[in-house]
Amino acid sequence: MANKDYYNILSVKKDAKADEIKKAYRRLARKFHPDVNPNDKAAEEKFKEVQEAYDILSDDKKRKVFDRFGYYNDNLDPDSPFGAGAGAGGGAGTGGFDFSGFNFEPGGSGSSSSSFRDIFSDLFGGGGGTKREPEPPRPLPKKGRDIEIPLALSFEEAFSGLTTNITVNRSEQCSRCQGAGDTGGPVVVCPTCKGTGQVMKTGGRLQFSQTCSDCEGTGRRRQPCAQCSGKGVTPKTEQVKIRIPAGVDTGSRVRIPKKGHGGRLGAEPGDLFIITNVGKHRYFTRKGDNIYVTIPITVPEAALGTKIEVPTVEGRAQLKIPAGTESGQKFRLRERGFPSLRNPSLRGDQFIEVQIKLPRVISEETKEVLRQFEKTNPENPRKAMGLE
Ligand SMILES: [Zn+2]
Ligand SMILES: [Zn+2]
Repeated sequence: MANKDYYNILSVKKDAKADEIKKAYRRLARKFHPDVNPNDKAAEEKFKEVQEAYDILSDDKKRKVFDRFGYYNDNLDPDSPFGAGAGAGGGAGTGGFDFSGFNFEPGGSGSSSSSFRDIFSDLFGGGGGTKREPEPPRPLPKKGRDIEIPLALSFEEAFSGLTTNITVNRSEQCSRCQGAGDTGGPVVVCPTCKGTGQVMKTGGRLQFSQTCSDCEGTGRRRQPCAQCSGKGVTPKTEQVKIRIPAGVDTGSRVRIPKKGHGGRLGAEPGDLFIITNVGKHRYFTRKGDNIYVTIPITVPEAALGTKIEVPTVEGRAQLKIPAGTESGQKFRLRERGFPSLRNPSLRGDQFIEVQIKLPRVISEETKEVLRQFEKTNPENPRKAMGLE
């Protein structure tokens, strides 16, 4: 609601005609467009201001309100008898006098100059109907959309990384119109919206209408470019080389710059994102960058201690089992886990949980050994519970 001077923002005079305002708007919108000034807050603010100014000054009714009151508000009526001082707002055109009160043509300068143009063209053989159609809006540079592609990887591929080629259905800026969508041909009814300025979109079970982006809601545009049918981009199927770094997990997003859809009018293409989905392993599990595995050991191994072989993703490793190891005890192999995605010089650990397996009694002789064992090692593990 601050009293912004929309004429000043667009650098046009107070009596600027519609096409001058449009021209000024296009020039400034291009200059401050966010795709042309990435991460520039000041340019973004300026862009918004220019949009706002154009929104008011390109709409006859809104402009009239602004001219009369010095600011715009939906509730203000430009023809209301209140706010009599408003004549001053339209001052530039009418010399500070509100002619509308005298039943002259409303809107003063605009309509009188266009009727002047009609007279002019009559005089110089333009004949009837040479009134120039207003220019349809020109598209603005626009960064291309990103593309996301899922990719299934094995546990081992996620561990060591992967370089491969994938087929990407993307698009590129049209070489014929440079992404403008037209090559400056005649103005036609917009084929996308059939001139209505609105297109129907389906969102879930709802249908709603949206401003047609091909003609920016005007219903008219220049004859679409024959090469891209007015889309500004042409489809392209491309083999893209991708490098998946070691350490990705399910849901990691790997960015391949500029391999998304093509931009328009010189703006950058979008990016390609590979979304990884890592398969399960037969006996390894993963939490973060750590790897977990459960290994069975025998009663004598646990009781007497030993050295055993354990698996890691990169091959076998030795693990020392100390005498008196309990079932469920965990051992750590440092830096045998996944490489960290954030810092490739760091690695997770591997944790080994041992599980003592009961001996299988296979002969009378084994039984005898166990009876002997019981005799020489009398033990009651339930003693602490007061049980015999
Ligand atoms: Zn084209
Ligand atoms: Zn349209």
